[in-house]
Amino acid sequence: MQPQCPHCRQDFVQRARRRGLVDYLLSFAYLYPFRCQLCARRFKAMQWGIRYSKKPVDRRENVRIQIGLPVTISAAHTSEKGMVKDLSVRGCRVKTQGHFAEGALVQLQVQVAENAPSIAVDAAVVRSSRSGFIGMEFLRLRKDEMDRLSQFVRSLLIASRQS
Ligand SMILES: [Zn+2]
Repeated sequence: MQPQCPHCRQDFVQRARRRGLVDYLLSFAYLYPFRCQLCARRFKAMQWGIRYSKKPVDRRENVRIQIGLPVTISAAHTSEKGMVKDLSVRGCRVKTQGHFAEGALVQLQVQVAENAPSIAVDAAVVRSSRSGFIGMEFLRLRKDEMDRLSQFVRSLLIASRQS
């Protein structure tokens, strides 16, 4: 049974890694950390009687949904086009010809629909950069943009559940 996120009351959650001794001890009382896939918050939930023997399967704690969305990546002196290949509320992976070093701060404009304004990520950090793909973690989005991103990810998660 999937626990619900206490913040947005949805059950699109993924088990998160235990952090430190407290999390470890709490897991003996069946209290486990989870990560909401819609609002990105971390929370603990009781999973009575369930013993997770292994570490969470997905190291990222976030379901990355395969897609193809046009994106513009902007840094201080450059702006490049690319294609978002997978996306979560906390980050994305982009295929691009542009060169962005690991650790670089960028801004993103993700075109989620043909006739809707793109979603703006005010700050993201490049976590990996190799062979035409860059992995990014979102650091800052305005609240309304985060809400739109969350809605969009939710629709993708619902669609992937039904397929
Ligand atoms: Zn939530």
